[in-house]
Amino acid sequence: MPFARRSHELWRELELEGDEPLLHDTGGLIICPAAGDTDERWGDFVGATEGVAQRADLDFERLDPAMARRRFPGFRIGDHEAVGFEPAGGLVMAEFAVTAHLAAARRRGAATHVNTTVTGIDTASSGAIVRTDRGDHRARRVVVCAGPWTASLSDARRLRVTRQEVYWFEADLDIWHSERNAFAIWAGAEMADYLGVFAVPPNAPLQAVKLVPEQFAIATDPATVDRTISDNDAERFFETMVAPRLNGVTNRCVNRSVCLYTNTTDDHFLIDTLLDSENVTVVSACSGHGFKHSAAIGEALAQQATGLDHLDLEPFRRNHRQPW
Ligand SMILES: Cc1cc2nc3c(=O)[nH]c(=O)nc-3n(C[C@H](O)[C@H](O)[C@H](O)COP(=O)(O)OP(=O)(O)OC[C@H]3O[C@@H](n4cnc5c(N)ncnc54)[C@H](O)[C@@H]3O)c2cc1C
Repeated sequence: MPFARRSHELWRELELEGDEPLLHDTGGLIICPAAGDTDERWGDFVGATEGVAQRADLDFERLDPAMARRRFPGFRIGDHEAVGFEPAGGLVMAEFAVTAHLAAARRRGAATHVNTTVTGIDTASSGAIVRTDRGDHRARRVVVCAGPWTASLSDARRLRVTRQEVYWFEADLDIWHSERNAFAIWAGAEMADYLGVFAVPPNAPLQAVKLVPEQFAIATDPATVDRTISDNDAERFFETMVAPRLNGVTNRCVNRSVCLYTNTTDDHFLIDTLLDSENVTVVSACSGHGFKHSAAIGEALAQQATGLDHLDLEPFRRNHRQPW
């Protein structure tokens, strides 16, 4: 919660420096089968989220399915499903946020080296040498946040990388505009039934509903992963996952993309130094739920690296959890 709250403030501060809205206050729907009738990974996800909201003093509404269908007509919520609504939830525009962070860092004097590949990190007692295809950099402190490639640059060997598919479908914006609809985390009875549904923000480059299923069954390698999605895959996804569950979405798939999740074995964050050097910190991707915390995690890491007070990162160290 401290990271969620601080990130919320930081997105708003960062927005003031540029022209693009970064955070849209849509509210968030959480839908899952009634307790006891779902995959154990999800459990009673609505009840658990309500508990977190209560402890954090955040608004959280329980909706009965009929009320939820009236209020959010894009969702064909079943009578057997539990529904929660978090009014403070929202959408962060990921690409604009990354661009804005880079620009803000440069304005404050940071040097950025894009299109540069790190080939290795040599640790030393006084710091580390970052080796790249365009020369070496010496530093007292290094923070590695390489997403799916983290294992190749650190001793975090047990991270699991999975291939994920993202789809954008044409939709009726009277229903799906982000000012009239929430985002939804929709768990099903099986893991394979999960659907992330994102309403369409006004500054989204593609004015289409973004839909994200999840799979954790098959691991992959970022170097060799198949980045294509066939027309057949898109059709099957629409028939099985979209048409039965959403209103106002057509079968015209306007874009699709493969991306990667990188997760620890217990799905929690991983933020810790290398076993053989206190000077190199590794930050896991915490995929599927990490981006919204990234502004505050980045701030805390920068403060830690420069010896300033920061939010507590201790709970994410490896000795509190399973090994990497
Ligand atoms: C389908 C999908 C949906 C998601 N949905 C959500 C969501 O709804 N909410 C949420 O909060 N999060 C979500 N996430 C997770 C979020 O995208 C990640 O948590 C976040 O992007 C992780 O950031 P990162 O900086 O750790 O890694 P990344 O974003 O993967 O960035 C790693 C960077 O390191 C660079 N890199 C790697 N190796 C090298 C090297 N050797 N040299 C130089 N550069 C290198 C890569 O090029 C890349 O730019 C989702 C992710 C996916 C894939």
